[in-house]
Amino acid sequence: MILPKSTRLTSDQLAEITAIVAEFGCKIQPIVGAMRSIYAIVGDERDELMINRLEGLDYVDRIDRIQSPFKLMDKRSDLASHRIKIGGVTLGEELFIIAGACTIDPKNPNYFYETAAAVKEAGAHALRGGVWKPRTNPYSFQGDVKSLDILMEASRRTGLPVDTEVMEEAHIKLALDAGVSTLQVGARNALNYSLLRAIGKAIGERDTVVLLKRSIHMGPLNEFISAAEYIAAFGNPNVILCPRGTTPTLDGFRNHPDESITPLLKEKTWAPVVVDPSHSVGKASYVPSAALAAVAYGADGLCIEAHVEPAKGIGDDPKQALTPEVLKKTITQARQLWAIRRG
Ligand code: PEP
Ligand code: MN
Repeated sequence: MILPKSTRLTSDQLAEITAIVAEFGCKIQPIVGAMRSIYAIVGDERDELMINRLEGLDYVDRIDRIQSPFKLMDKRSDLASHRIKIGGVTLGEELFIIAGACTIDPKNPNYFYETAAAVKEAGAHALRGGVWKPRTNPYSFQGDVKSLDILMEASRRTGLPVDTEVMEEAHIKLALDAGVSTLQVGARNALNYSLLRAIGKAIGERDTVVLLKRSIHMGPLNEFISAAEYIAAFGNPNVILCPRGTTPTLDGFRNHPDESITPLLKEKTWAPVVVDPSHSVGKASYVPSAALAAVAYGADGLCIEAHVEPAKGIGDDPKQALTPEVLKKTITQARQLWAIRRG
């Protein structure tokens, strides 16, 4: 990783380092941070001669050679000062709340519009709504592109930025063209490297954010952070880690709650952690406690399913969605706890 003395390299300087690393079979990938850009060396960056030549350039501050499977997302990386912003709010500065329906019902758009207004009133910063849905049963409703218009209309009405899950390459373009600011990678796709690559490439030069869920098939935490790294390596480091419950081991919860990995993630990576308590416990009555537990463990934010009339919702909403009243109370208590943690 090349750290320049100035905030970014000129095109001549970039051409010069690109030519140097090419002699050693490597490439340069600029990574645009909020404060400054850094330049990742893609390929085997261990050649001492290459490093010496780069270090000899008067516009290069230093070469960062941290040994890590995720050099960009590592807490020791120069990118650690990078801050992710969604809709003008900087993660880490206040508890970030994403809330909204699991699945937008294209036949009943008013439920989503009313839910959007209610989550805004409850204090959410961003609105979630599933357009395309991964399902446990392939014959369940899998989404409808009409819902994308409903999502964007709700965004216009409320002024909230939106988050939606993309499951294939075609969804990425549709979502970005429509103005979706946060692309969600679901638990079933977090290890789908061709999807992660397509997302990384599509957002490399934009300020789009990715909410990367933890796959239930992920083992060591390095796998989770490396998946984030894989997206960031295409130039945009705006990747948020989202624990959402792992393989169910308890009789009662939908998944095994994993908000307790938050401090472990924070020890390894600078990436913000936004916990999804809805899919972990899978039942509305347990969600407020799981949300508060996540904040107690140090989460930077929460992603919560909510609906004005959960029983009339589709997807997970009848089971998991909070009513606006419970959402509001949960957000208020979570913010109080966040302030206590911050001391
Ligand atoms: C969702 O957010 O509605 C969803 C399907 O989540 P997950 O990928 O975590 O199951
Ligand atoms: Mn859901």
